[in-house]
Amino acid sequence: MTRWRVGILGATGTVGQRFIQLLERHPWFTVTAVAASDRSEGKRYGDAVAWKLPTPLPAAVADLTVAACRPPLDCDVIFSSLPGELAGEVEAAFAAAGYPVISNSSAHRLVEDVPLLVPEINADHARLIPVQRQRRDWTRGFVVTNPNCTTLALVLPLAALERAFGVETVMVATMQAISGAGYPGVASLDIVDNVIPYIAGEETKVETEPRKILGRLAGDRITPAALQLSAHCHRVAVTDGHLCAASLKLRQTATVADVCAALEAFRGPAEVQALPSAPSRPIVVRHEPDRPQPRLDRDIERGMASVVGRIRPDPVLDIKLTILGHNTLRGAAGATLLNAEFLAAAGWFT
Ligand code: NAP
Repeated sequence: MTRWRVGILGATGTVGQRFIQLLERHPWFTVTAVAASDRSEGKRYGDAVAWKLPTPLPAAVADLTVAACRPPLDCDVIFSSLPGELAGEVEAAFAAAGYPVISNSSAHRLVEDVPLLVPEINADHARLIPVQRQRRDWTRGFVVTNPNCTTLALVLPLAALERAFGVETVMVATMQAISGAGYPGVASLDIVDNVIPYIAGEETKVETEPRKILGRLAGDRITPAALQLSAHCHRVAVTDGHLCAASLKLRQTATVADVCAALEAFRGPAEVQALPSAPSRPIVVRHEPDRPQPRLDRDIERGMASVVGRIRPDPVLDIKLTILGHNTLRGAAGATLLNAEFLAAAGWFT
């Protein structure tokens, strides 16, 4: 496998730091460029960043100079974790300049010809890349996105149940970690001893993105899946790990045992399972009555799985369950990295 040189946009942020942590000693990727705002530009990365991860900042990255978020950068591929309101223009500029842009930001997620990729579920949506290139007159460049952190945790079990029984309706209430708001995020005086029943834009993302991910690619467009979703999103005083309490109406009758079996059996295509960051089990089912819990279960499968528990009958719809996902790993940097590995292995970077 060729080694690819990676440039990170938003490198000093919460997700940018996770990229750097995950890429240290990665078999295919090396970080060669870091970019952030004009607050950081021109500084040594180690001086610009407020490093918040428990593993040490890799020395080679600490010595890179932070660049501006505009092309050219000294790299082959871009990983983007810019704020959503900036990412649209910046990512398009890099794609137009010939860089594959693998993005964690929201700007392009719902653009018709941009894959919203979860490779275990919709690897075939990568076939939108040539459509995108042709429409925009891009040659080597393109943009591929991954979903919002909560959507990612939710959509893996939804995909398993959609495949097995069909899913008609999803009602979900989320309890989302503080790190999901970036750094410094929510003020401690707002979140300690409190729950905030509002996260700007989040409910729309959770209600919309799964329909595209579970949609069918036909020709040059995706037909969204026909399921209905309703979300209530809350910020809670947990550092990492988003919890979702979901009730589902299925299209075919299924027992609790059937649902457990479908979740446990779920796997992506063989070529996705073989990727360095792929979890061996994309969905882990916990059978104890009080799991999953963020502190105890978020690091299962290196934070790359959706952990599902409390699977039981729902007296109004059909089935209810609790889902946990690590928001900065599988919900952000880990999702982008898995997409990059999938695209590299499938030859999209050459
Ligand atoms: P963050 O901690 O606030 O980091 C933001 C990054 O963007 C920093 O590197 C910052 O650089 C840079 N930046 C800010 N303004 C800029 C500007 N005007 N020009 C260029 N760079 C600028 O945010 P985050 O949590 O890492 O989130 C990044 C993206 O990922 C967002 O789109 C977010 O919605 C998405 N996301 C986050 C999570 C999560 O769990 N945190 C999960 C899924 C998706 P400076 O340090 O120089 O200011």
